[in-house]
Amino acid sequence: MASRASPTPPSSPAAPTPESIAYAGELIGAGRLVAFPTETVYGLGGNATDDHAVAAIFAAKARPTINPLIVHVADADQAAAHGMLDERSRALAHAFWPGPLTLVLPRRPDCTVSRLASAGHATVAIRAPAHPVARALIAAAGVPIAAPSANPSGRLSPTLAHHVADELVGVFVIDGGPATLGLESTVVDATGPVPMLLRAGALDRAAIEAVVGPLAAPDNGAPRSPGMLLGHYAPRRPLRLGVKKVRADEALLAFGPTPLAATTVRNLSPRGDLIEAAANLFAMLHELERCSCTAIAVMPVPDHGLGEAINDRLRRAARGH
Ligand code: AMP
Ligand code: MG
Repeated sequence: MASRASPTPPSSPAAPTPESIAYAGELIGAGRLVAFPTETVYGLGGNATDDHAVAAIFAAKARPTINPLIVHVADADQAAAHGMLDERSRALAHAFWPGPLTLVLPRRPDCTVSRLASAGHATVAIRAPAHPVARALIAAAGVPIAAPSANPSGRLSPTLAHHVADELVGVFVIDGGPATLGLESTVVDATGPVPMLLRAGALDRAAIEAVVGPLAAPDNGAPRSPGMLLGHYAPRRPLRLGVKKVRADEALLAFGPTPLAATTVRNLSPRGDLIEAAANLFAMLHELERCSCTAIAVMPVPDHGLGEAINDRLRRAARGH
């Protein structure tokens, strides 16, 4: 167990300094967990090659162990040490890494990522994040970092350090400010002949299809992304989607230049921009679930571009309550 940790550990949430990142890297090396910013949402990370650290991630989140974790690496070379990339997955990694794309790859026979992180599957989900703090942490830790979103399983994803600190008490958090994209990564299964979209996310489908052609739809027979089966993103208030009129006891999550009338309103994007809406989605749901309303009414959000992922999260939040 490494323990060259600084004499006085930085207090948490810590500003992202070389010292706090080095300290976080030492924690990961010692099998402990760290919450850190990425461009998608805040992650709860541990050494992906350490079964105990991976088990601690599942325990801290109360995450069902059937739901595998995404492993964060520096680049395609580090990914190739654990997963098998074919021509198409290489093209995707080349086009979008570092960035918000996760590739589900066949595990290499000598893959050292904990099998628990793969939830027992013969695949490993890998991404190279773009956020400078995440990249610095991966370099400092010197190991691939398994990191799901840093929230209790089933709760809203954290896009601010205080979202993490409020719900995962005692975890060391590096505060990198608001997650810039605000939506989880897009997950693509690259194990079959045609890449398949497993989860819509911060990288929109059109960008991926421009590189590898049309993505296969998930087949209903064998759900390959176990996490998508679970109730998810449950806010503390029920959500009503696609509303045209807000009830007196509801708060409003609006979209666009002409919000409906309501006493408590957050507008995902007054100018109707889906990128801005994605970045605001979880933070605004966090705010609205704390207001004195009985429910959250949500205006329709167009389904193109990032709207596909935004509407996926909204539907699951409505279902998950
Ligand atoms: P989260 O950690 O909440 O961002 O969720 C990660 C998503 O990636 C979940 O929907 C998982 O089901 C999916 N995922 C992770 N690893 C794999 C894998 N090996 N095979 C298929 N899906 C995976
Ligand atoms: Mg999550």
